Amino acid sequence: MTHKKVAILGGGLSGLYAAYLLEQQGIQDYILLEARDILGGRIMGFQPNDEPYSFDLGPTWFWPDIQPQFAQVIADLGLAVFAQNDDGNMLVEQSFEQAPRELAGFVTSPTSMRLTGGMDSIIKALAAKLKNPDIYLSTRVTQIEHKRDLITVHCQESHADTEHSVNVDHILLAIPPRLVSHNIVFSPSLPKELITQWQNTATWMAPHAKYIAVYERPFWREQGLSGSARSMVGPMVEIHDASEPNHSANQDNNAALFGFIGIPVAQRKMIGEAQLKAYCQQQLIRLFGEQAATPIAHIIQDWAQETFTATSFDTQEMSHSLPPANAPFQGAWARNITGIASEWAPEFPGFLAGAIEAANIGVTRYIALHKENAKA
Ligand SMILES: Cc1cc2nc3c(=O)[nH]c(=O)nc-3n(C[C@H](O)[C@H](O)[C@H](O)COP(=O)(O)OP(=O)(O)OC[C@H]3O[C@@H](n4cnc5c(N)ncnc54)[C@H](O)[C@@H]3O)c2cc1C
Repeated sequence: MTHKKVAILGGGLSGLYAAYLLEQQGIQDYILLEARDILGGRIMGFQPNDEPYSFDLGPTWFWPDIQPQFAQVIADLGLAVFAQNDDGNMLVEQSFEQAPRELAGFVTSPTSMRLTGGMDSIIKALAAKLKNPDIYLSTRVTQIEHKRDLITVHCQESHADTEHSVNVDHILLAIPPRLVSHNIVFSPSLPKELITQWQNTATWMAPHAKYIAVYERPFWREQGLSGSARSMVGPMVEIHDASEPNHSANQDNNAALFGFIGIPVAQRKMIGEAQLKAYCQQQLIRLFGEQAATPIAHIIQDWAQETFTATSFDTQEMSHSLPPANAPFQGAWARNITGIASEWAPEFPGFLAGAIEAANIGVTRYIALHKENAKA
């Protein structure tokens, strides 16, 4: 059976960044196991017609003024950024009977920034930086065993019943704590209090769904509108301009609007995707006029239906949970697992910045433990 120093479980931002940090520290002997067919986790792009950019189905914004560590990573990767478009008036929809009200837009502070090309640019850039990637996609971790000083990670191919396993010295859990507690069996078991803590840590944004409509031009800007809207009638409660920057006459098809759907998870399931899409489109027509009726493409991404993000516990949005302990204080697992998904970050749990923060802490902890073990 293969033996590796480190297994990174999960190939979202925290897992990929951990692989990058390990390589920076000269540690090439790692394996990364990812259940989905693609890297990125909650960072996922919608790429209509093979355009060179994608629209964010997951995270959109970061805030360099308060998240300097994350901003530094973006800068180091040489990624271009731009401010969320808030120029123009916003719309407020209070009832079906009344026309939407137009109000002066407001400038958000700190400024919400976006990545040119889509948030998945950071995933592509990090993956391209890895010199010695040992990454397995479509590989779902099911069990972790600790027997006679040997740690074995068991996994299953997502599209087949084939099982694999790998022996490792340390595990970096780049899977949100709630998912770990639901879907991965530890043998021997983790301390009960820790499992409860991880189970009670909500996975940020897991109960949400987003609708995106892509247009040839940002026609709402020609009406003096920013593309922002708030609605009390829905289905979308909050809408924003999702266009790529530098829109010009010869850069068609990169304009878009996106909205967060305010209908609860169970009801969304009952309505069904096709009907929900139709409701969202009707809402954009009510708000922005007939031009909204002909998107080039439109899509709903319902994160609550994503097995590798949400569990049956993720039915309603909770406020950010306090970060749980990233490892047991004592027992068989105390020195050989570390939680590094965003929800474990002390300062920005749940956010993109948190994924970078928690991965940094986890890799630093692994290196310290590794040095202690080498001395012993
Ligand atoms: C709709 C939405 C909007 C958001 N907006 C913002 C925003 O504007 N700004 C912001 O800062 N943050 C936002 N977030 C949060 C942001 O996306 C997360 O903080 C960040 O992506 C977390 O990265 P991660 O690597 O810690 O976790 P994840 O991205 O969840 O990665 C976990 C990985 O583990 C994999 N996995 C799961 N189970 C297994 C298993 N059993 N075996 C192997 N692999 C497994 C998953 O497939 C996934 O790739 C948003 C999230 C969503 C869903």
